[in-house]
Amino acid sequence: MVLSFENKTVVVTGASKGIGKGIAQAFAGAGASVAVVSRHREEAECSAAEIVAGGGKAYAFEGDVTSLESMKQLAKKVNGSFGGIDIICANAGIFPSASLEDISGAEWDAVMNTNVKGTFFTVQASLPYLKRSDGGRIIMTSSITGPLTGYAGWSHYGASKAAQLGFMRSAALELAPHGITINAIMPGNVMTEGLRDMGEAYLNSMAASVPLKRLGTIDDMAHAALFFASEGAGYITGQTLVVDGGGQTIPESLDAFGKEKITEQ
Ligand code: NAP
Repeated sequence: MVLSFENKTVVVTGASKGIGKGIAQAFAGAGASVAVVSRHREEAECSAAEIVAGGGKAYAFEGDVTSLESMKQLAKKVNGSFGGIDIICANAGIFPSASLEDISGAEWDAVMNTNVKGTFFTVQASLPYLKRSDGGRIIMTSSITGPLTGYAGWSHYGASKAAQLGFMRSAALELAPHGITINAIMPGNVMTEGLRDMGEAYLNSMAASVPLKRLGTIDDMAHAALFFASEGAGYITGQTLVVDGGGQTIPESLDAFGKEKITEQ
């Protein structure tokens, strides 16, 4: 399948770094005009400049997904600059770690406000423009953590990522009459600036638990987002795609890797 997004406008939230940056670069590489969004203009500008230096079309926009007003202004500006919006990648998210006993109400709210309400605001604010597209697409970045797996220290985060999928399934029904699809990628552990902050011991242990023996890359995630945004995926909505290298969702335990069997051969 050849994926071309010539004449399409894509908004990617959280595109100053990490998975969002990878998604923005991939769409630009496939011919789209990309709105690179983050709360910090300078960082968004650096990310957009990298795309432009590589021959792509990208513009930086400042936007905070926790504010509906900010998302409305963003959608208006993107529409004004590009003449429409075809694809929304609701990717911005935070994943602070804290034990169940220690999470404060404010920390819980911050995670929910960014990951869940932020997704809702991003989608709602862009709807008037997506409806005018001849194939509107929404791709959310959820996670395996919460919907499928658990990780100590991320109960608030896991709840937010599962909530995104609950939102998606009902939204899919409301969006379908407008020809708009909404789907979610569910990354495993992806090597991003955000994840690097978790420390080397964490990264090594996570990579060892993945059957394909490496952490995911931002390109791995971007390819899945491009698939959901493609014309060929137009009959898929309200669905999820796990992109985790076969782990941590496949092996039941360390023994499930069959290490003993392999060593015997
Ligand atoms: P990251 O490297 O920390 O990047 C997060 C991005 O989100 C940044 O561009 C940040 O820019 C932006 N952002 C944060 N809060 C924002 C807000 N209120 N408004 C607008 N932008 C905001 O994170 P990542 O690892 O790429 O994660 C991206 C998404 O993938 C998240 O939804 C995360 O839950 C999900 N995910 C990641 C992994 C992983 O292993 N990395 C695994 C599963 C799921 P500013 O700070 O400039 O605003």
